[in-house]
Amino acid sequence: MTITGGLMIGPPDGSVVSGTLRSAREHGLPHEILTPSAVHDRFPAFELAADLVAVMDPRAGYLDPETCNSAHIDAARNAGAEARFDEPLIEWNPDGNGVRVRTQSRSYTADQLVLAGGAWTSSLARDLGLPLTVERQTVFWFESDRLNSSYGAPDFPIYAYEYKPGHICYGFPRLPRGMKASVMHSGELARDAESVRRTVKDEEVKPLRAALRPVLPQLAEAALRENSVCIFTNTPDHDFIIDFHPKHRQVLISSPCSGHGFKFASAIGELQADLITGGNARFDLSPFRATRWSNSG
Ligand SMILES: Cc1cc2nc3c(=O)[nH]c(=O)nc-3n(C[C@H](O)[C@H](O)[C@H](O)COP(=O)(O)OP(=O)(O)OC[C@H]3O[C@@H](n4cnc5c(N)ncnc54)[C@H](O)[C@@H]3O)c2cc1C
Repeated sequence: MTITGGLMIGPPDGSVVSGTLRSAREHGLPHEILTPSAVHDRFPAFELAADLVAVMDPRAGYLDPETCNSAHIDAARNAGAEARFDEPLIEWNPDGNGVRVRTQSRSYTADQLVLAGGAWTSSLARDLGLPLTVERQTVFWFESDRLNSSYGAPDFPIYAYEYKPGHICYGFPRLPRGMKASVMHSGELARDAESVRRTVKDEEVKPLRAALRPVLPQLAEAALRENSVCIFTNTPDHDFIIDFHPKHRQVLISSPCSGHGFKFASAIGELQADLITGGNARFDLSPFRATRWSNSG
């Protein structure tokens, strides 16, 4: 994790600024409220429009996800786990109090099963008819060579900007790949993870440029270096699902959904371990019930 500080930017009464402030005050977190000129004095790349304000979170930063994934897999192996890759699960069925799993290459029996299939969760728990949507997300890397040093850490924090009510764009300081930025949500919905359109047309960067202009006008005009497509798996309330299968308690469904699950990976892993070893979690997981959309939920 690299700590850069984080700027949560938006209109003073918008959900990003007011939500960040509420969270900081409720949990006693250090923060500062900065005017556009105070933001510019401290982080010269930022030129906020006059009607905006920023909440500075000095503890914010970014994770390198590939390194995190490797670290998690190493930690699991060191604790005795066996990691198998390129072996898709074809089907699972309850087997007495346990479970039988068939993969592309073999069958397993186990006492418990954790289904953590991300965008594939609907098909892995088809009988539940979970109301998940699969949303295509584009991410872009702008050319950073022509931008001055104020676009690199420590002069450039991570940021999220509420460019219209309830909608944010976000980005990172200069990294070897360029300046990464994206508009969160507002992507096309796909039937399932396999049918997501994987190519990006050049004009798809336009909404991101428009969103960035009131806070990072120079970056908004920078040349594009790279793009990519990722997938969000959304629940209707944008909260996760972490719950036992309602009919089969030996199966735990765990899908850190809605585009904000990665930072919780360690915590969710611990929760999963607690749930399948002791059946109890140390947090209230009722907001994450798999049945919360049904009448019985
Ligand atoms: C553009 C983008 C930006 C994001 N930014 C952030 C962020 O800033 N902060 C944050 O916290 N989160 C962020 N996220 C969200 C985060 O990446 C996800 O919430 C998280 O990766 C979900 O983890 P997961 O393990 O549930 O699913 P995934 O990471 O999707 O993993 C599911 C795995 O299951 C495998 N699988 C599927 N079907 C089968 C099968 N039949 N058999 C075996 N394996 C199967 C898949 O191959 C995949 O490896 C972002 C996501 C995107 C797309």
